[in-house]
Amino acid sequence: MQQESVLVGALGWRGGEPEKLRYDEEVESALKAVRQHLGMEIGFVSEFLGEERVFRHVDTSLAEPPFLAGHRLSMEEGYCRKVVAGELPELIPDTSLVPAALDIPETALLPIGSHMSVPIRLSDGTVYGTFCCFSSWPDTSLSVRDLQTMRAVADMVAAQVEAKVTSQKVQESLRSRLAAVLTAGGPHMIYQPIIRLDDMVVVGAEALARFAGSPHQSPDRWFADADAAGMRSELEFAAIRNALRDFFAVSQEDRYLALNISPKIIVGGDLAAVLEGYPLDRIVLELTEHEHVEDYEGLFRALARVRARGVRIAVDDAGSGYASLRHVLSIRPDIIKLDISLTRAIETDPVRQALAAAIVAFGCHVSCRIVAEGIETEAQLTALRALGVEYGQGYLLAKPLPAADLGRTTGGV
Ligand code: C2E
Ligand code: MG
Ligand code: MG
Repeated sequence: MQQESVLVGALGWRGGEPEKLRYDEEVESALKAVRQHLGMEIGFVSEFLGEERVFRHVDTSLAEPPFLAGHRLSMEEGYCRKVVAGELPELIPDTSLVPAALDIPETALLPIGSHMSVPIRLSDGTVYGTFCCFSSWPDTSLSVRDLQTMRAVADMVAAQVEAKVTSQKVQESLRSRLAAVLTAGGPHMIYQPIIRLDDMVVVGAEALARFAGSPHQSPDRWFADADAAGMRSELEFAAIRNALRDFFAVSQEDRYLALNISPKIIVGGDLAAVLEGYPLDRIVLELTEHEHVEDYEGLFRALARVRARGVRIAVDDAGSGYASLRHVLSIRPDIIKLDISLTRAIETDPVRQALAAAIVAFGCHVSCRIVAEGIETEAQLTALRALGVEYGQGYLLAKPLPAADLGRTTGGV
């Protein structure tokens, strides 16, 4: 199971559609190149699906071709099954000289004067379908060498088909694992207290998703998988809804509840409806810095709608080097969360200290609260306090806890 995530990465696949388009474009340009090289009227890739074959890609010089991509035929119609079964030769320069070809109704109907067809075999030996070209006229110049060209391209198409089939299988498997999480009412949420560092009072808590079952992987990996499977929005909103169910247990004594959310979910989803009915001035949305934002305008508009009703915005993982200060400048957050990589070694590294001090000074100027993430040692806590960081989160102060245990929490140090 773990392998699927690795595979998603290895395929460079970020969500189904763009990869599908790239695959389609490559197959279609290879198909066109071969058909034109052979000077034939129609070239196509068909897939064998049980009793049917489906025309996946069609390239033609005809103004009115007899079929287009998406067309389905019985396996018994036409040449393809018979070529793969060895009942017809792969290379037929003149169909009138091949009795088995003349027995096929399409030979006269379309008509088909010359025909070439090679199976597309996947690496496990199964036949995916065929790569074919034909013309209405006989062409005795077609040769074994032309057939070899078609075979080479069929191999390339097989590799492309295989990559697509593999990525579809990965996607199906990811989707079924994610559906199982959602059907079981997941993800399960736990809450990490956020603490004011001068008096160690708990001021809020961040909701963090936890996933039971296989594969055992970090929540950010689960969210990345959901992205690849086209289910990011569903999973993120499920996490938010589950966290909101714990709102009144978590937000006792006016504590706020911080919800992680990715920018593209904010732009595409109906956040205001999900938050409806909760005291919005006690909700913070944490936007990770790790994600590239394509549409700052759209994000800004969607944020403005919930901000107008009291929701505060935090830029998460600041200083981790991805979107850098772009988020901060564009979003004008209420809270900046210093990434754990900045907290690590803050007590000894003057460069980290300088960056943290600069962010603190910036925060003062624009009335933005600074929260340091991942505080694990007394030395880090002391250094962050000395730099003027007012709020913090980390295992030293409090680990993430179930909502029911949160009421009793105070800063652990
Ligand atoms: P994040 O939002 O930056 O969350 C902080 C992460 O730091 C959490 O990891 C938390 O458990 C961990 N952490 C807290 N204190 C310490 C510490 O002292 N030391 C160390 N080493 N780690 C500490 P977690 O729960 O594994 O989550 C990882 C990331 O997954 C989160 O980073 C967030 O980006 C994402 N994520 C988690 N839950 C959700 C969710 O419900 N929705 C969304 N959209 N993303 C989530
Ligand atoms: Mg966060
Ligand atoms: Mg963070």
